[in-house]
Amino acid sequence: MAMSKKIVALTGGIGSGKSTVAGMFVERGVHLIDTDAIAHAISGVGGRAIDAICKTFGNEALTLDGALDRVQMRARVFRDADARRRLEKIVHPMIRDEVAQALATTAAKNAPYVMLAVPLLFETMGYRGQIQLALVVDCPVRVQTERVMKRAAMPMAEVEGIITTQISRSLRLQLADDVVSNSGDMSSLLPQVLRLHEKYLLMSKTVQCV
Ligand code: ADP
Repeated sequence: MAMSKKIVALTGGIGSGKSTVAGMFVERGVHLIDTDAIAHAISGVGGRAIDAICKTFGNEALTLDGALDRVQMRARVFRDADARRRLEKIVHPMIRDEVAQALATTAAKNAPYVMLAVPLLFETMGYRGQIQLALVVDCPVRVQTERVMKRAAMPMAEVEGIITTQISRSLRLQLADDVVSNSGDMSSLLPQVLRLHEKYLLMSKTVQCV
C-alpha cells in the first residue's frame, strides 16, 4: 500500500483538548484523519463492526437502533479486561484498515502533511511505524477532569477512572516530539498551533514521500 510519509500524530489524555486543537489545524487546511471519528462510525448504526460486536457480545450490547451502546460498553470494559480485549480485537484492525484507506486517498497524498488523531497513541503503539512525529496536547489532570465532567456531565470518579487507564501525563510528555500546552484559556492555543503548522509545512518539504 502506498503511504504518505508525512504524518503527525495528535494525541493527549481525555479532555486535554485534542479535538479543539485538531479543529484549529483543520481551519488551516490540514488533512485530518481522526481515529475516534472512525471508531464512532464503524460502531454506529450500520457500521462495519456491528455484526461482529453483536456476535461477540449479543444484542444487549446494542442500542435499539442498532448502534454500539457506548455508555454500557464503556462500563463493561472498565470492569472486564477480557471484554476490553475482545472489543479491541474487533475494532482495532477495522480502524487501522480505515486509516490505511484514508491515507491512500488522493486528498491525503496531496496534502502537505496529514494529522492523524490517535487518543491512545502511546498506549497501543499501533501506529508507531507510520508516524513521523507525536504532538501531545497537555494540561494538568485536574483541568482535564474538570473539562470532561463539564463536557459529558460525567461524575468525577468515572472521569478519574478513565484517566487511570491512560498513560501518565509525565510519560506522555516524555514521549512527545511536540507539545501544545492547553492549561490556560483557548486564546493561548492558536499561536502554538500556528507555530507548529509552520514547522510541519517546512518539515513536509524536506521529508521524502513515497
Ligand atoms: P479531547 O478531544 O482531548 O477529549 P476536547 O477538545 O473535546 O478534548 O476538550 C474537552 C472540553 O474542554 C471541550 O468541551 C472543550 O470545548 C473544552 N476546552 C478545551 N480547551 C479548553 C480551554 N483552553 N479552555 C476551556 N475549555 C477548553
